[in-house]
Amino acid sequence: TRTPLIAGNWKMNLDHLQAVAFVQKLHWTLKDAKHEDGSVEVAVFPPFTDIRSVQTLIDADKIPFALGAQDLSAHDSGAYTGEVSGAFLAKLDAKYVIIGHSERREYHAESDEVVAAKTKAAIKNGLVPVICVGETAEDLEKFGASAVPAGQLEVALQGLSKDADIVVAYEPVWAIGSGQAATPQQAQDVCAALRAVIAKVLGDDAAARTRILYGGSVKSSNIASFMREPDVDGALVGGASLVVDEFAAIIRFEK
Ligand code: 13P
Repeated sequence: TRTPLIAGNWKMNLDHLQAVAFVQKLHWTLKDAKHEDGSVEVAVFPPFTDIRSVQTLIDADKIPFALGAQDLSAHDSGAYTGEVSGAFLAKLDAKYVIIGHSERREYHAESDEVVAAKTKAAIKNGLVPVICVGETAEDLEKFGASAVPAGQLEVALQGLSKDADIVVAYEPVWAIGSGQAATPQQAQDVCAALRAVIAKVLGDDAAARTRILYGGSVKSSNIASFMREPDVDGALVGGASLVVDEFAAIIRFEK
């Protein structure tokens, strides 16, 4: 059994003061919700400049949210101006790090090989990589839904140990920020194909254990339909994770 993971990718939104206010409000709003008993895991992914403040708040008020970053360097330290290492994130008690988000692949030319190197850097530093894969509208038309994300994932998993702790996020690029989510069946089909890739590269145990999230225009009105699919283990939420009541309603999904 895989614990559902509801993850909020804030992207470049909310400064550290807004982040602290947001997390406090979300925590109050969720009082007595099921994440308090561990049946759903909640994670937030703020910009780097917010992480210290959010970590201090989570720690002081014993707020049961996990913390993650939106990217990391493939290197641990050195002459890499502007970069942030996995070692630094681990020191701040970050549990997760998003790797290979389509916005980084597109605007920062991150290749599958860079994604693979960053995945290794995350694991080496004790972070759980949230490896993002997904096809563009053009890929969908040319190759169908699964081929491109399956190929991306296969490269990212090369060389990992069979017991590596990872999360995979299927985010069709055409569904991100478009209001046009995949159908639950589309999400299920690709998530099942991605689980088969994990089985092929890391074995059946890893495939059975690893959580695969759907992302792309998730909101409170469609979350339950995704969570009912057997191979969808949670959601990576963008826009809707920036609105307290909406994100809280997603976390409170009922299948
Ligand atoms: P939206 O939920 O805004 O479509 O963004 C999805 C996403 O990119 C999460 O990483």
